[in-house]
Amino acid sequence: MNKRILISGASIAGLTLAHWLARHGFEPTVVEHAPAPRSGGNGVDVRGNAIEVTERMGILPRIRALATDVHGMKFVDATGRAVARIDTRDPASVEIMRGDLVALLHEVTDAEILFGDSVLGLEQDDDGVTVTFEHAPARRFDLVVGADGMHSNIRRLAFDPEERFIRFKDHYFAFADTDASLGENRWVTMFNTPGKMTGIYRSGNHAQAKAYFMFRSAPLRYDHRDVAEHRRLISEAFGGESSWRTRELLDAALADPDLYFDALGQVRMDSWSNGRVTLVGDAAWCASPASGAGAELALVGAYLLAGELAAADGGHRVAFARYDAARRPLVDAKQRIGPNVRLMVPKTEGGRCVRDVVARLPLLRTLGAMERRTPLPEYGLSGGGGRRS
Ligand SMILES: Cc1cc2nc3c(=O)[nH]c(=O)nc-3n(C[C@H](O)[C@H](O)[C@H](O)COP(=O)(O)OP(=O)(O)OC[C@H]3O[C@@H](n4cnc5c(N)ncnc54)[C@H](O)[C@@H]3O)c2cc1C
Repeated sequence: MNKRILISGASIAGLTLAHWLARHGFEPTVVEHAPAPRSGGNGVDVRGNAIEVTERMGILPRIRALATDVHGMKFVDATGRAVARIDTRDPASVEIMRGDLVALLHEVTDAEILFGDSVLGLEQDDDGVTVTFEHAPARRFDLVVGADGMHSNIRRLAFDPEERFIRFKDHYFAFADTDASLGENRWVTMFNTPGKMTGIYRSGNHAQAKAYFMFRSAPLRYDHRDVAEHRRLISEAFGGESSWRTRELLDAALADPDLYFDALGQVRMDSWSNGRVTLVGDAAWCASPASGAGAELALVGAYLLAGELAAADGGHRVAFARYDAARRPLVDAKQRIGPNVRLMVPKTEGGRCVRDVVARLPLLRTLGAMERRTPLPEYGLSGGGGRRS
């Protein structure tokens, strides 16, 4: 039986997978290149089947206790006057700060975690995978899972360079810490100029607030790991803007050592597995922050992958094929982000006026409630031989 499983990435997908693999009797090891769980990010939504996944992990009450209590999105003009509000509250969904969710997942995961390290090489044969690390000595594993985000290292090593899989969605975005007094409590406030959005995310239950930037652009050449480059790019995009709170928010972003900047991109792959290696979360199917579904897809995907491995007694070929088939429909649906992007960043002044009218309609509030749900499979917890029901 394939028992020893290496997971690259200790975030939402990787920690959830390690938790469920351990409960099914596998021996997961996680390698994370950061020295500790990464705490950054805005609120993320736990909704749909992800609610049941976290309930079965025993953390749903704590997620609810830490919920952000954000009421919705508010669009403002240059004077700060609200021109439209969309109430996004949904009783079937809980929003939590990404860092709080990662900390909770870390707490309930019983697995060896190698912080401050990364996989250098993978060599597969009929019986397993020899893995070399940047720091730790080389080791054998039965299976390897890439849960290391949109710029996945494992995907690059076991499949192809990321250019083959990442579809650029014409925008870049950034999040950074900022002064909470700049935003209205419980609202994500957004200000637009054509092709640009500056915003502030302020939760009801947290003192802190996040500056939020998005801008439309042709593809830019830069090193996605270089924070100095990120600063330069958002300065170039927003440095000439002085309306609303843009200057103060930009100053805060440039001063934040944990500024998070990336291309709005999606990962598209025909198959998420190659032999003994598979992918989960953003590494496999990143739908982008504009989907609002990254955490949901990661939590449910990791649960299903662990469950299918248990149901197949560790048989990776059967398990990976079932996991792939079970995931595709929801991933395909969540990757349709066009309407969300047009809502947040209208391309033109005319588009913004139309958006403001549409945002006042009650229709948008009911769209979430129309989503179809499929039942979440139960997998018996019988020490490695879980049964599917
Ligand atoms: C710091 C941070 C802030 C974020 N903020 C937001 C946000 O505000 N809103 C939003 O919608 N989404 C945000 N995201 C993305 C969001 O977490 C994901 O879309 C989603 O939750 C799926 O999570 P994931 O576990 O698949 O990937 P991610 O959360 O991206 O996690 C990938 C993990 O892999 C690790 N990793 C990367 N490369 C390597 C390597 N070579 N070796 C080992 N480990 C590696 C990373 O450090 C990270 O811990 C953020 C991600 C990060 C890392």
